[in-house]
Amino acid sequence: MSELIARKGLSPRFWENKPLTKMNPDEWEALCDGCGKCCLNKLEDEDSGEVALTRVACRLLDDATCRCAHYENRHKFVPDCIVLRPDNLDTHAYWMPQTCAYRLLWEGKPLYDWHPLISGSPETVHEAGISVQGGTVSEFDTPFEEWEDYIIEEPS
Ligand code: SF4
Ligand code: SF4
Repeated sequence: MSELIARKGLSPRFWENKPLTKMNPDEWEALCDGCGKCCLNKLEDEDSGEVALTRVACRLLDDATCRCAHYENRHKFVPDCIVLRPDNLDTHAYWMPQTCAYRLLWEGKPLYDWHPLISGSPETVHEAGISVQGGTVSEFDTPFEEWEDYIIEEPS
């Protein structure tokens, strides 16, 4: 049987009936589906403002787990890593992945069935092919001029 997600501190179906600004810290954290896509490098078109995700991952992303390898002290290595909060989501939602729960709720959309909060399993984001598991290249090995070759289609 697969591992179930922890629901301690979470109100039932809070993502459907609580505004983002009213969620408690456990609920806010539980919104993250663990896809790892916000840890991919992005290319932003200066003229149109359009953002494209690439498969070129941040140096700290572990693409087997899709988690940050040094989450607690990541700012020592990646000072500009964003800490997403309810009060800065307006600034950042536009570049978040289209399947990201924070962006979906900010846009007034529902979560997908593969989201761990709905499926109950942290594995479904990988099984549905949404996460970056096993699909990234290193930013150390990939010159910036080549990033365009690694653009991925959203939302998958
Ligand atoms: S894109 Fe959103 S849901 Fe996916 S890892 Fe980042 S914060 Fe979590
Ligand atoms: S430092 Fe960690 S959390 Fe931040 S983008 Fe890199 S892998 Fe993701």
